[in-house]
Amino acid sequence: NHEVFEPAFEVIQKIEEAGGEAYIVGGAVRDYLSGIPVNDIDIATSETPERIQEIFEKAIPVGIEHGTVIVRHRSVSYEVTTYRVEEGYEDYRHPDEVTFVRDITLDLARRDFTINAIAMSRNGNLIDPYHGHDAIRKERIEAVGQPAERFQEDPLRMMRAVRFASQLSFHIEKKTEEALNRLSHLLQYISIERIAVETEKIFRGSDYALGLHLLHTTGLKNHLPILKDLDIHRNVPNSPLVGWHEIIAFYVLQFPQLSAENFMKSWKLSKDTKKKTIQLLYAYKQYEIEKNVTAWLVYQLDEELFPSFSRLFSALHQEDVNLDKALMEMKERLPILDKRELTFQAKDLLQLFSDLPKGSWISEWMDTIEHHVVTGEMENDYEKIKEWVREWNPPARN
Ligand code: ATP
Ligand code: MG
Repeated sequence: NHEVFEPAFEVIQKIEEAGGEAYIVGGAVRDYLSGIPVNDIDIATSETPERIQEIFEKAIPVGIEHGTVIVRHRSVSYEVTTYRVEEGYEDYRHPDEVTFVRDITLDLARRDFTINAIAMSRNGNLIDPYHGHDAIRKERIEAVGQPAERFQEDPLRMMRAVRFASQLSFHIEKKTEEALNRLSHLLQYISIERIAVETEKIFRGSDYALGLHLLHTTGLKNHLPILKDLDIHRNVPNSPLVGWHEIIAFYVLQFPQLSAENFMKSWKLSKDTKKKTIQLLYAYKQYEIEKNVTAWLVYQLDEELFPSFSRLFSALHQEDVNLDKALMEMKERLPILDKRELTFQAKDLLQLFSDLPKGSWISEWMDTIEHHVVTGEMENDYEKIKEWVREWNPPARN
C-alpha cells in the first residue's frame, strides 16, 4: 500500500544504482503514516546537487547552496535535497551556513519535530531515530532535541507547531508547549512573509479551531499584525478559510473598524491576494444589500472565487452551505460574461451623441447599460439599447 510512493521509489532507485542513498522524508512520510492524503514528496539524498544533476536528465537546480534540485519523473516534480546540517543561527535568521553530510540521521536531527524527522526507504522501511512514528500514533507534536534550543534557532518553528496541530489535530507535547509559551515573543524576529505562510495554513487546517486557540494561549497571537487585536480564539469561523482573501474578508466584514487595505499592507500580501480580497468583499457587500445572490454579483465575481464566496458565507452565517453549484448555474444563465459582449459599445454612444464632447458620461452610460443587460432589465440587442438610451436619459446637453 505504498502506491503513492511508487514513482518516488523509482527516483530513489536511480540514485541507488548510481551508488548513492536516498529516502522519502518530511511531510510526505508524516502524512502517509497519519493516514491523510500525501501532497508533495520530498527526497533526501547523500549525493551532491551536482551529482543529482548528472544522474537525472530533467533536473532543475533551485537552490544549489541549500542543496535542492527539482527532479521531474513521470510528470511529477520531486525536491531532491542533499543531507545537510545547519549551523550558526544569527539574529534568529536563516542559518549562516549549511554543510552537506553523508549520514541521513544527521539530516533528520536538524528537522523541527519528531513527526517530520522520519525517513522512508524504497522498501518502505523507516529510519526513525526520534520515534516520530510513535509520536504520530500518540498524536503528539514534539521538538527534535531540546525544544527551547530549537525555537531559539528558528522561532518560526513555533508557528509551525501550531500549524501542524491545526492540520493534524494533534496536541503539543508538554515540554515543547512550555518552551513555546515561554519563547513566543521571539516571533518578532521572523519576517512577516514567513509568518503569513504558516498563519494561512492554520486557518485552512481541519482543526483550525484548535490552531486559533493555540495562537491565543501560547501568546504567538500577540505578534500577528491586526489579528492580535481580535478575539480570534472566540470568534471562530464555522468552516476552514482557504487563503488570505477569505481570512481578511471574514474579519473585515465583521469589524467595520478594520481596513482590508491596512490588513494586506501589514501582512505584506501579494497583488493577487489584494485583487481577490477586493472582489470577494465587493461580492459579499452586494449580497448584504440585496439579501440575495444576484446576477450582478455572479457577473462581477471570478469563477475561481465561487468556492471562496461559499466558504466565507458559511463562516459568517455559522452554517455549512455550498453555493458553488447555484453560483455556476446562475453564471450559465447570464446574458453576457464580459462587457465586450455588449452589442452596443462606446463608439455607438459617441455616434448617437456626436455633438457632445467626450467625457465621463460615456463610461457612466456604458456602466449603466452593462448593469441593465446583466440584470436582465434590458435585452442585449443593439436597436433596443439604442432606443432606450435615446429615450430615457440622453446626457445633459450643456
Ligand atoms: P507540507 O505538507 O505543508 O509541505 P512539510 O512538513 O513538508 O509540510 P515543509 O515546509 O515542506 O513542510 O518542510 C519539509 C520538511 O523540512 C519538514 O517536514 C521538516 O522536516 C523540515 N523543515 C521545514 N521547515 C523547517 C524548519 N523551519 N526547521 C526545521 N525543519 C524544517
Ligand atoms: Mg512539504
